[in-house]
Amino acid sequence: MQNNKYIGAHVSAAGGVENAPVNAAAIGATAFALFTKNQKQWFAKSLTDENIENFKTNCQKHGYTPNQILPHDSYLINLGHPEEEGLNKSRKAFLDEMQRCEQLGITLLNFHPGSHLKKISEDECLQRIAESVNMALDKTKGVTAVIENTAGQGSNMGYRFEHLARIIELVDDKSRVAVCIDTCHGWAAGYDFASEKGYEEVWKDFDEIVGLKYLKGIHLNDAKKELGSKVDRHASIGEGLMGAETFSRLMKDPRLNNIPIILETPEPDKWKEEIEWLKSQV
Ligand code: ZN
Ligand code: MN
Ligand code: MN
Repeated sequence: MQNNKYIGAHVSAAGGVENAPVNAAAIGATAFALFTKNQKQWFAKSLTDENIENFKTNCQKHGYTPNQILPHDSYLINLGHPEEEGLNKSRKAFLDEMQRCEQLGITLLNFHPGSHLKKISEDECLQRIAESVNMALDKTKGVTAVIENTAGQGSNMGYRFEHLARIIELVDDKSRVAVCIDTCHGWAAGYDFASEKGYEEVWKDFDEIVGLKYLKGIHLNDAKKELGSKVDRHASIGEGLMGAETFSRLMKDPRLNNIPIILETPEPDKWKEEIEWLKSQV
């Protein structure tokens, strides 16, 4: 396998999913994220054959293979919802998102684990999330559910590596569950990526608790709030408290080879420049 750094951003899919690879190519990205439907709505109309065909053609044209594409699911979905109605609706919407990926030939789907809304325990919530993932994996083929770590805001689960490991433990098909690490979320949750010593410790912990083989994606964001603040505020690369050196270190890290590295930084106008700088640090 070649050792590549696939670097991109969460680009717009306005006007159709087929526009995402075009938007990604325009900023020099070698990876991209997208929403395969409006992220603020529960359900959307199905993808047309034309959408699907054009998406695949545009990916091919611009050189994007499935391991360079990391779609994000809707923010409305809560796979650990404490109540039946919300849980069922979430599970239905998540399955729909997995099926859209299946149709588009996308092999990864990033999602936020879920929230207990202070109505069930943390572990009960993690059990529900794993059950939700099992249900979706049962009904689909070839798509991996990628759990994103969180900042730990509100009652969101996923702010400890142990949470990610617990979900994986309870998922039946371990070949189709993986993890995406969001650097800003990790930092906000108290993982010190920004000091040289902290950096190595965080990855050592990750490997021991979750396992590096499960790392299938990175959300690359600097952070506006302090280490351990549990507040999720992304900053442009080098403009936050984590600092440029942290991201230079990440770019040199072979653990990040061959997986999509996605900017979710707040100023789309800077993405091209950010990508260029990140590439120069590899
Ligand atoms: Zn996310
Ligand atoms: Mn993220
Ligand atoms: Mn975030």
